[in-house]
Amino acid sequence: ARRTGTLRARAEIDLDALRGNVRRLRELAPGAALMAVVKADAYGHGAPACARAAVEAGATWLGTATPQEALALRAPEAGLPADVRIMCWLWTPGGPWREAVEAGLDVSVSGLWALEEVTRAAHAAGRSALVHLKADTGLGRSGCQPEDWAELVGAALRAERDGLVRIAGLWSHFACADEPGHPSIAAQLSRFREMVAYAEARGATPEVRHIANSPATLTLPESHFDLVRPGIALYGVSPSPELGSSADFGLRPAMTVSASLALVKKVPGGHGVSYGHHYVTPGPTTLGLVPLGYADGIPRHASSTGPVLVEGKWRTVAGRVAMDQFVVDLGGDMPPEGTEAVLFGPGDRGEPTAEDWAQAAGTIAYEIVTRIGPRVPRVYK
Ligand code: PLP
Repeated sequence: ARRTGTLRARAEIDLDALRGNVRRLRELAPGAALMAVVKADAYGHGAPACARAAVEAGATWLGTATPQEALALRAPEAGLPADVRIMCWLWTPGGPWREAVEAGLDVSVSGLWALEEVTRAAHAAGRSALVHLKADTGLGRSGCQPEDWAELVGAALRAERDGLVRIAGLWSHFACADEPGHPSIAAQLSRFREMVAYAEARGATPEVRHIANSPATLTLPESHFDLVRPGIALYGVSPSPELGSSADFGLRPAMTVSASLALVKKVPGGHGVSYGHHYVTPGPTTLGLVPLGYADGIPRHASSTGPVLVEGKWRTVAGRVAMDQFVVDLGGDMPPEGTEAVLFGPGDRGEPTAEDWAQAAGTIAYEIVTRIGPRVPRVYK
C-alpha cells in the first residue's frame, strides 16, 4: 500500500493535467481567447499556481469573483506576467474600485450605480477604468435588464468620451448551459446578440464579447464569441453528468484528495460507529479512521455513502462524517496505519472521482473540489 508520508492528508494538484485541459479547451474554441476562471482559490486548487499554469498553456485572461481575488493575482508575489488581463465580476458598493482601476483590472458593471462608482474611482486614480457591461440575458442574477440597457450603454459611452471608462467588454452568463437543448439557451443567445448589436450600433467598440462558461465552451460553439470563460473544466471536472464525463471531453481531473489511515482496529458485530450510531457493524470487522472531516470540506451529506479507495478496494463512509474525521468499514482487512485512503482523483488508479462524491452527497462536483479546506495542504506536481 502507498503511504502518504508525514502528511495527515493532502490535495495533490496535477498542474500538467490543468495545462492539458486548457489546451483541450482552446482546441474546442479555436477562434476565442480563453479566460481561466480562478475564483474561490481556483475552485479549491490554489489560485496563483493554477493561474500561472493556465497562462503557460495559453490563457490570456483570468477571471475572479471579487476584486480582492483579482488584486492578489496582480500582486508581484503571484508571479504572473503583467500583460495578463484579470477580470472580476462580483460588484459590491464600497469595494476597492480605485485600487482595481490603478491595478488595471477589468471590472464588470451591471447598472448605473456601479458605473458611477467606477467612474469616480477612475477619476481618483487618474486613469480610465476597463469596464465590461453585463447584460442579464436570462440568468436573473447580476446584469442589466434589457429594458435598462439603452440607459446604461448611453452613460458608459459618455464616460468613455470623458476618458474615464473604456468599454472593454460586453458580456453575459448562462443559466442552463449544462442542460442540452434547454430553451433558455437559444433565448439567452439571441438576447445577447441583440444587446451587443445595440451597444455596437450606438458606438461601443468592445475588445471582447463573452458568455460561455464550461458547458457552453464544451458543447455550444455558437456561444464562443471572442472569449470563453471556463472554470470547472479547467480542473478536469465535467460540469454535469448529463453532459458527459470529463473523459468524454478529453479532460483530466487535476485534484486528488487522500489521507493516511490514522487508526485501524478490530471491532465486534453490533458496534455503533460515529455520532448517532447511524452505522452498526453487521458482524466482526475492522474499522479505519480517515483524518478528514466536514471542517475540511468532506460533505456531511456523504455520511454512510461517500466512497474511499483503500488497498485497491472501494470502502464506504461508515456512519456520520464528523468535523475532523470519519470511519470506513474495512471488512476485516488490516492495512497498516499510515496506509493511503484516496477519497477522489482522476479515477485511473481505480479511485472514486469528485463526481462520485457529488453523487454520494447529493450535490455537484464543483462543491466537492471547491470546499476542500485550508487545513488540507495543496501539493503541486
Ligand atoms: N463566468 C462566470 C461569470 C462565473 O460566475 C463562472 C462560475 O460560476 C464561470 C464563468 C465559470 O463557470 P464554470 O465553472 O461552469 O465553467
